[in-house]
Amino acid sequence: MNILVINAGSSSLKYQLFDMKDRSVMAKGLCERIGIDGHIRYSGRDKVYDRDVALADHAAAVKALIELLTDAEYGVIRDMGEIGAVGHRVAHAGEEFSESTLITDKVLEVIEACVPLAPLHNPANLVGIRACAAVMGGVPQVAVFDTAFHQTMPAKAFIYAIPYEYYTEDRVRRYGFHGTSHRFVADRAAEMLNRPIGELKIVTCHLGNGSSLCAIDGGRSFDTTMGLTPLEGVPMGTRSGSIDPAIIDYLCSRRGMTVKEITDILNKKSGVLGISGVSSDFRDLGAAAREGNRRAELALGIFAHNVKKTIGALAAGMGGIDALVFTAGVGENNDVIRSMIIEGLEFLGIEADAEKNTPMCGERDISAPGARVKTLVIPTNEELVIALDTQRLT
Ligand code: ADP
Repeated sequence: MNILVINAGSSSLKYQLFDMKDRSVMAKGLCERIGIDGHIRYSGRDKVYDRDVALADHAAAVKALIELLTDAEYGVIRDMGEIGAVGHRVAHAGEEFSESTLITDKVLEVIEACVPLAPLHNPANLVGIRACAAVMGGVPQVAVFDTAFHQTMPAKAFIYAIPYEYYTEDRVRRYGFHGTSHRFVADRAAEMLNRPIGELKIVTCHLGNGSSLCAIDGGRSFDTTMGLTPLEGVPMGTRSGSIDPAIIDYLCSRRGMTVKEITDILNKKSGVLGISGVSSDFRDLGAAAREGNRRAELALGIFAHNVKKTIGALAAGMGGIDALVFTAGVGENNDVIRSMIIEGLEFLGIEADAEKNTPMCGERDISAPGARVKTLVIPTNEELVIALDTQRLT
């Protein structure tokens, strides 16, 4: 069976078509500037298509994508009938779903009801699902939620220390994100270590533009750093991560700004970008720091310090750690940041081997010989998790 995986944003739609026989990617790409003008990037069977194409809405993008997939020159399938199911990445399911699910009208209602919790993402995900239904008719569709994996957290990890009614009446709690990624790399870590996941305590560090860490006890999410929204936790590319909540009122009074303006700055102009004034991209920051830019160096130092102390906090909360996993753009590729994070964690049994901690790609064990905790680098593959869940449910 072939499965189409869709990750719909407000003006973009990322896609991959999987052949589930061997889990290979037949074609992948991105429709962007949807509703503005339109552009499609596509690669399938060694052919690349990269052009401006009018995309009035998401349905037009899905239509254009199917035309490419079935095109005589660029295509990889004969007709739409060869797509057995569609899997969608969906940001927020509140407390309704702890697993992926086949999409029904009831599921659409839940995603809709969670729009206030993920105002940027859930509406785009809904548009993507409806566009596929409009263009592809009865092909089964599955929703894979970013929040689902974290539904196993105990109340002591997900309840905030604010009046309890805000949880019961307003649904304010820690939900956590990047669930498919944390789940995937934890499963791979157990396979690499050749041990049942049920007996492992793992801290996974998903470090990309957005970053979150997760404590996974026996294969279940026990605690995580992102909260009601993906703004909480460690500092990120442009997001502040956790700050003293009183800063907001203080800045409102001092600078005459509104809460909304400040929240926007905390999401888009903070993190390593805000500290350095250089970039949100860790490659640019590394280059600037090497050239002597002190604020870029400071940004990297603050990032590494916060990830380091969070690893300790998650391990302490979970009562131990057997494996530490690095994934996503920075976690997989940036050996300098990894060593800044790991340095000084020997007291926890975490130690890297400088010769193994290189910029080389791919899955690997970078632990020092004899280190009690295994430190692993594992490329994440959220699209494959979505495809596998979709196959299982259809
Ligand atoms: P997103 O959260 O958008 O999925 P990614 O996981 O792609 O983000 O991570 C983006 C970050 O990864 C950027 O800061 C980028 O600098 C970093 N990154 C990606 N590739 C490399 C690389 N080869 N070396 C160092 N850093 C990298």
